[in-house]
Amino acid sequence: MHTFDGTFLGDNSKLKDDDCLECKVCHYVYDPKIGDIDQNIMPGTPFSQLPEYWNCPVCGCERDLFLVVPKNYERDKDSGYSAK
Ligand SMILES: [Zn+2]
Repeated sequence: MHTFDGTFLGDNSKLKDDDCLECKVCHYVYDPKIGDIDQNIMPGTPFSQLPEYWNCPVCGCERDLFLVVPKNYERDKDSGYSAK
C-alpha cells in the first residue's frame, strides 16, 4: 500500500481540531475555521467531525485522500513548500 507523510488514512484520532487538510487530487484545502458552507458544514467544524457523506467539494474525491497540511505551511509557502 502506498502511503504519504501526512496522510491520515481515515484515522480521525490523528487529527487535531484545527488541522487543515488538503485534497491530494485537486489541492482544495479544508480549513475548519471556514468550514464548507456549500455542504452545510459550519465554520469551526473539525475535519474529524465531517459527516460520512462529505467529499471534496471541488473534485468529489473521498476524505481518505486528504493530507494534513503542516502547521508551518503559511510560513514556508514563500520558500517553495510542496506537499509530499
Ligand atoms: Zn479534491
